Amino acid sequence: MVHRNRLEAYLNELLAPAEYPDYAPNGLQVEGREEVATVVTGVTASAALIEAARDLGADAVIVHHGSFWKGEDPRVVGMKARRLQLLIESGINLFAYHLPLDVHPQLGNNAGLGRLLGLETDARHAAKGVPGLLWSGVLAEAEAPEAFSARLEQALGRRPVHVDGGPAALRRVAWCSGGADGLIEQAAGLGVDAFISGELSEPTTHVARERGLHYFAAGHHASERSGVQALGAHLAEVLGLDHHYIEVDNPA
Ligand SMILES: [Zn+2]
Repeated sequence: MVHRNRLEAYLNELLAPAEYPDYAPNGLQVEGREEVATVVTGVTASAALIEAARDLGADAVIVHHGSFWKGEDPRVVGMKARRLQLLIESGINLFAYHLPLDVHPQLGNNAGLGRLLGLETDARHAAKGVPGLLWSGVLAEAEAPEAFSARLEQALGRRPVHVDGGPAALRRVAWCSGGADGLIEQAAGLGVDAFISGELSEPTTHVARERGLHYFAAGHHASERSGVQALGAHLAEVLGLDHHYIEVDNPA
C-alpha cells in the first residue's frame, strides 16, 4: 500500500510530464482515497472502465486518455459529470498520462509497438514540439508489406488499414501510436518505407501515395494498450501494488 501522494510523486518522476507540452493535465486528475493498494489501468477513463475498476475495489485508475482536454466544454455536465460522479462516489483516484506515456523510452506506447513488431529503434524524433514523439527503426530482415500487415494484425488483434504507397519490401519504418497520422509528412522526410500510427484520415492516403511510402493504421486504441499495461506491471514490481489491466474493447 502506498500513499496517493507518494504514488503521484513516483509517477511524475518516472514519466516527467513537465517536459511535454500536452492537451490535458498529466498526473492526478481526480483525488480519491489516500491509501492505494489496488490499481487498475486502461486506455481511456470511460464510464465502463471506471465501473469495472469500482467493482474490483480499485483505489486508483491510471489511464492514457483521462479527462479535462484543452478546448473542451469546461462544465461538469452529461458524460463528464457521470464519469466524475462514479470516481468520486467510489473514492477512486484518477491518474492520467498522455504524451509522457507515448514517448517513455521503455514503458511508453511507442516502445511497446516497436517491441511487438520486432523493430530495432534507431532514433526518436521531436514532432509537434514534443521531444521523442516520432520513432524510427529497422526490421531485422526486409519484409513484404502484406507480411508486415499480417504481423501487425496478429500483434494487436485488429486488422490494420493499409495504404499501399511504397516499395515492395520494407526495411526501415517510422511509427507513432494513436491519432498521429498527421506526422506522415515528417516520417516521409526521414526516408522510411512505411509509417504506422493509430488512425487514418482522408489526406493521409494521398500523402502516402505521393511521398512514396506505405501507411498502416494499426488502431488508435490497439496501438495505445501497451503503455498503461507496462506502467501497471512496473508499479506492481516496484511498489508492490496489486495491478489489473482492464480492456474496454474499442474498434477505433
Ligand atoms: Zn490516444
